[in-house]
Amino acid sequence: MPRPITARIHPEAIRHNLGLVRQMAPDSRVWSVVKANAYGHGIERIYPALAQSDGIALLDLDEAVRVRELGWTKPILLLEGIFEPADLELADSHRLTVSVHCEEQLDLLAAAKLQQPLDIMLKMNSGMNRLGFRPYAYQKAWERARSLAAVRSVGLMSHFANADDGAIDWQLDQFDAVTQDMPGEQSLSNSAGVLWHPRAHRDWVRPGTILYGASPTGVAHHIAGFGLRAAMTLTSRIIGIQTIAPQETIGYGRTFQADQPLRIGVVACGYADGYPRHAPTGTPVAVGGVRTRLVGRVSMDMLTVDLTPCPSAGVGTPVELWGDQVKVDEVAEPSGTIGYELMCALARRVPVEVAASADTADEAIAQSAESVAG
Ligand SMILES: *Cc1c(COP(=O)(O)O)cnc(C)c1O
Repeated sequence: MPRPITARIHPEAIRHNLGLVRQMAPDSRVWSVVKANAYGHGIERIYPALAQSDGIALLDLDEAVRVRELGWTKPILLLEGIFEPADLELADSHRLTVSVHCEEQLDLLAAAKLQQPLDIMLKMNSGMNRLGFRPYAYQKAWERARSLAAVRSVGLMSHFANADDGAIDWQLDQFDAVTQDMPGEQSLSNSAGVLWHPRAHRDWVRPGTILYGASPTGVAHHIAGFGLRAAMTLTSRIIGIQTIAPQETIGYGRTFQADQPLRIGVVACGYADGYPRHAPTGTPVAVGGVRTRLVGRVSMDMLTVDLTPCPSAGVGTPVELWGDQVKVDEVAEPSGTIGYELMCALARRVPVEVAASADTADEAIAQSAESVAG
C-alpha cells in the first residue's frame, strides 16, 4: 500500500469555472492559461475540460508542442514569445501565436524564413515593468512588426500589476492612449481583470488561476461569491492518534503547547508533499468533513491536527488538506504565500488521480471513507 495521500484533479471543475469566465466576459474570447503544467494540475489531465476555450496560453515550447499533439487546433499563445532562432521554426511548424516584447524578438522575426507568417501579440509595458515595449516606443515597434514578412497579424497586449486590488486605470489609460488608432485584437486581463475590471475585458481575456478555483488575490473570501470550484483536492488520512495532557507540546520545536487535554490526529502529509512548512497552528484542515485546525509544526511527512471538533475521527479517517472544504488560499494565506504557489508546488511523490466527471470533492471523501470502513 502506498501512503494514503492523493491529489485528485477535477476536470469538471475547470469546465465549470471556464463557463463562469464566459458569463463574466461574454463578449471576449478566452485564452485559458495552462503555464507551469496547468498550474500543477497536469496539462494532459485537464485538457478535455478546455474544449470550450478559444485558445490556450502558456510559455514553455515543450508544453505548446504537447498541446498540439493532444489534438488542439485552435490558437496557442506563447506568453513570453520565443527565446532563440530555433524556436521560430517550432512556432512555424506548430502554428503558435507568439507574444513579442522586445526589439531582439523583432530582430529574430526579421531574420526568419518561415513557411507561413505568424500571428503575434505585441506586448506593451504599461507599468508592470517586466516584459514589453514602453508606451513611447510602442508605436514604432508596432510599425516595424507590421512591416515584417514573417508577421501576419499584430495583436495588442499588456499585463496588469495590481488588477487584484482595484487600480488598473493608470495602466489602462496609457494603453488606450497609445493604441487608440491601432487596429488589432486586444488582450489585457488576467483572472483579476476578468473578475473585477469589465472595462479591460477587450477581445481576449487570459484567465489562469480562477480556472483552477483559486483566488487572484491569494485571499479565499475575495472570490467566495463567484461560485468557482476547486480543481485540485489534496487528501490524506489519519495514521495515528495521540491524547495529550495540558502543558504537553506537539512536534518539532515544541511550538504548540496544550492548555487542556487534547486528542491529536497525525496526518500523512508533510512539506515533502508540497504542504507549506510555514503553515502555522490554526491553519484550517477538514477531518472527515469537519473543519478543524493544524497544531504544531509541519514536518517532512506528517502534520498534526486538533480532533476536538471531530470526536468520531480515528485512524483511517480521510482528511482534506485543500479542495472545496478548505480552499487552497486558506492554507496559503497564513503560510505567507498564494494558492498559485501551492498548486504548482505539489510534490512529485504525491499520486495524482483524475476524478470521473460526476465526482465532487464530497463524493471523493465519502468514497474514501467507505473504503476505510470496508
Ligand atoms: C500567468 C499569466 C496570466 C494568468 O494570470 P492569472 O493571475 O493566473 O489569471 C495572464 N497573462 C500573462 C501574461 C501571464 O503571465
